[in-house]
Amino acid sequence: MSDDNLYAKNSIDYIQPLLNDSSDVFEIIDLNGTIRYISQTVERITGYHPNEMIGKNILDFIHENSANQFISMLKQILHEPGKRIKDVIHIVTMHGVHYDFVLTMTNHINNKSINGILLNWCDITKLVEMERNLEYISTHDELTNLPNRILLNKKLYHEIEKAKQNDILFALIMLDIDGLKYISDILGEQISNRLILQFHERLKMFFDKNVFISRYSDERFALLVSYITGLDDCEKLAKDIINLYEKPFMVDKYELDIYVNLGISICPNDANDLDRLKRHADYALTRSKEEGKNRYQFYARDMDIQHYKHFSLRNDLRKSIERNELIVYYQPMVNLETNQIIAVEALLRWEHPIWGMVSPLEFISIAEETGYIIDIGKWMLHEVCKDYKRWMDTGLAEVLVSINFSSIQLYEKGFVENILKTIEGYDITPNFLIMEIVESILIHNFNHVMNIINELRAKGIMIALDDFGTGFSSLQYLNRFTVDIIKLDKIFLKNFSSNETSAIIIKCVNNLCSDLSIKLLVEGIETFEQLNYLKKLGCHSGQGFLFSKPIPKEKLEYKLEHHKLMPESLPEEFITNTERRKYKRISFHEFIEANLTIIKMNDKRINIGDTISYIKNIGPGGLYFIADIGLPINDKIMLAFSFRFMDCDLKLYGYPIWKKEIGENKYEYGLEFKINVQNRKILNHIMNQIN
Ligand code: C2E
Ligand code: MG
Ligand code: MG
Repeated sequence: MSDDNLYAKNSIDYIQPLLNDSSDVFEIIDLNGTIRYISQTVERITGYHPNEMIGKNILDFIHENSANQFISMLKQILHEPGKRIKDVIHIVTMHGVHYDFVLTMTNHINNKSINGILLNWCDITKLVEMERNLEYISTHDELTNLPNRILLNKKLYHEIEKAKQNDILFALIMLDIDGLKYISDILGEQISNRLILQFHERLKMFFDKNVFISRYSDERFALLVSYITGLDDCEKLAKDIINLYEKPFMVDKYELDIYVNLGISICPNDANDLDRLKRHADYALTRSKEEGKNRYQFYARDMDIQHYKHFSLRNDLRKSIERNELIVYYQPMVNLETNQIIAVEALLRWEHPIWGMVSPLEFISIAEETGYIIDIGKWMLHEVCKDYKRWMDTGLAEVLVSINFSSIQLYEKGFVENILKTIEGYDITPNFLIMEIVESILIHNFNHVMNIINELRAKGIMIALDDFGTGFSSLQYLNRFTVDIIKLDKIFLKNFSSNETSAIIIKCVNNLCSDLSIKLLVEGIETFEQLNYLKKLGCHSGQGFLFSKPIPKEKLEYKLEHHKLMPESLPEEFITNTERRKYKRISFHEFIEANLTIIKMNDKRINIGDTISYIKNIGPGGLYFIADIGLPINDKIMLAFSFRFMDCDLKLYGYPIWKKEIGENKYEYGLEFKINVQNRKILNHIMNQIN
C-alpha cells in the first residue's frame, strides 16, 4: 500500500467517527437522486436508519409538498461540476414531520472518489421554531392572540401596494371601546380582559376572512376591510359593527354595556401611504368620539378646515414646548378709580409654524384632554417666575401676576409643593401670585380643592374665581369657599346695554362682593360706556381691550414703567397685515356663500372637505371673505373657493394676505389670487356679468 493510500484509508477511519458525531447529516446521491451514502446522524434527527435509505431515491423520503425547493436546488447544480449552493429549506418527511435545514449542495461529479452530489444537512428546526415564536410574540397580542400594531403595519403596507397596483379600495377602521379603562379601574383587569375576549368573539363571528382584525392598543381594534366598493359599503359595515355591541356583555355577575366609536379611512381615496392612512382613521375616530357614543365617522366626508386644524394642533401640541413655540402674553388689570395697573394676567399663546398665532381657546382643551396641560402649566409657572424676578430686579414689580389653572392640574401629585418649590427656585416669595380657577372646579371634588386652596392661601397665594357667572354653582359656593377675587365674565358687559338683566347682575355681584369683602374684577371692558357704568357702580377693578389687549412681555414692561394705564378707544380695525388691495372691486350687497377649503399647505397637497365662508367682494387681484376660522397669513397655505355666481359654478384660488378679527373666532380676510389661466377666465366672466 502506497503512503497516499495509507493516508486515505486512515483519513476515512478518522472521518467516520467525526461524521457520526457531527450534528449535521452528510449524504451523497448520484445524478438520479439515489442515496449512495448517508451519515448515521440522520437516524438521530429523522428516525430513518441509514440502511433503510441507502440505495433508495432521496425523493422517497421527502413529502411531495415540500420537494419543489429541493428539486430546484438540485437542478441548479446538476450540470455544473464543482458548483456549490446553500439555502434554508423546509422539509416534510414521509412520516409528516417538519424540519428546517440549512442545506449545502456541492456537485462532486468529477471527483472520482465521490462521483455524485454531496449534501450537507444542518438541522435548524429548533432555531427556526424559536424565531417563529419570538416573531409571533412580538407581532401578536397576548390576550386575544390577534395581530398587533406591528403586524398591522406590515399588512397595511402590502395592502396599500396591492390597492395601488390593482386600482382597488380598502378601508382601515379604527374601532374604539369606550369606558374600558373605567371598567378596568373599577372591576379589575381580569374582568376587563374577559370583556375584551367576548368583545373580540362577537367581532370574529361577524366577519369573514376578508377582514384582518388586529388589536391596535388596549382599547382599540383596527380592522382592515378589503374589497369594498365605496363609502356605502363601509357605512353599512360601520352600522353593523355598532349593532354588534347593542346587547350588554355578561362577565361574572356583571352586566356590562359597551359603547364603540369608529373612525374610517379609505385607501387610496383618503391616503395611499401607511402613516397618513392611519392618521386619517385616527382623526376620523377623534371626530366620531366628539359626536358621542356609538358613532362612526369617515375621514374625508364632511371634514372641514376647523376639524383639520384641530387635528393638526392635537398632533403638534406635544412638541410645542421643546420647540419653543409657546409664549406668555400679559394683560393688565387696572384699578378703575386710579387707573393703576394692579395685576397682570398671564395668557398663553402658541406660535405654530404653519397656523401662526393660535389662541388658547383652540388648544387648551386639547392640552387638558391629553394631560399635556400639566407640562404646559409647569412651563408657564417657570416663565412667569422668571419674568417676575426680572421685574423685581429692575424695580418694576409692583404688580401681582395671575395664572390660569385647569382642574386637571390640581390633581397632579404634589401640586402645591411643586408650585412652592418652583417659586422658591427663583428666590422670590409666593405672595405675588394669583391662581385663577373656574367655578366648575369647585363642584367636582370640593374637599380636595378646598384643601389645596387653603394650603396655597396660607402661603400668600391669592385665589381668583374666573369667568364668574358662566358656571352653575356661583353663589352657594361662595359661602363655603374663601376666594380673594371674583372675575366677572365678559359676557355680562357685552350684553349690558341690550339686556337689562346683565346690568342688574353686574350691580348685584358688585354689592355681594363688597359685603363679602371679596375684590371684584370685571372682564371684557371694551367701551367708555361700559367703563363709566362700572365706575358709577364703584367697581374695584377691570380688565379689557379698552385698557390693553394681552401683549408680549416687552410691551408690558414698557407699560409697567408708567404704572398707570389710561383707557383708549379701540381702533376701528385690527389688521395684521395692512397691505390691502386697491383694485376696483365689486361689492356684493349680500355676501356670496362659498365653500372654502385648503388645497395646499407648506407645499404639501391636502385633501379635506369644505368650510362655509362668505365672499364680501371681488376685485381682479383678490377677494375679501369672512370665515369662522383662524387661518395663517402667508403664502404657504393655498385656499380654494367654490361658489355659484349667476348660474355658474366657479372656483377661485389664492393666498390669504391680511386678516382682521371681527368677533370671537370670526375673521375677515383679504385673499390674493393665484392667477392662473382658469382664475383669469373666471374673473373675466364675473367682471363681464357685473358690468
Ligand atoms: P380667561 O382666563 O377668561 O382670559 C381672558 C380672556 O379674555 C383672554 O382670552 C383675553 O384675551 C380675553 N379678553 C380680555 N379682555 C377682553 C375684552 O375686552 N374683550 C374681549 N372680547 N376679550 C377680552 P385668551 O387670551 O384668548 O384666553 C382665553 C382663555 O384661555 C382664558 O380665558 C383662559 O381660560 C385660557 N387660558 C389662557 N392661558 C391659559 C393658561 O396658561 N392655562 C390655562 N389653563 N388656561 C389658559
Ligand atoms: Mg383668566
Ligand atoms: Mg376669564
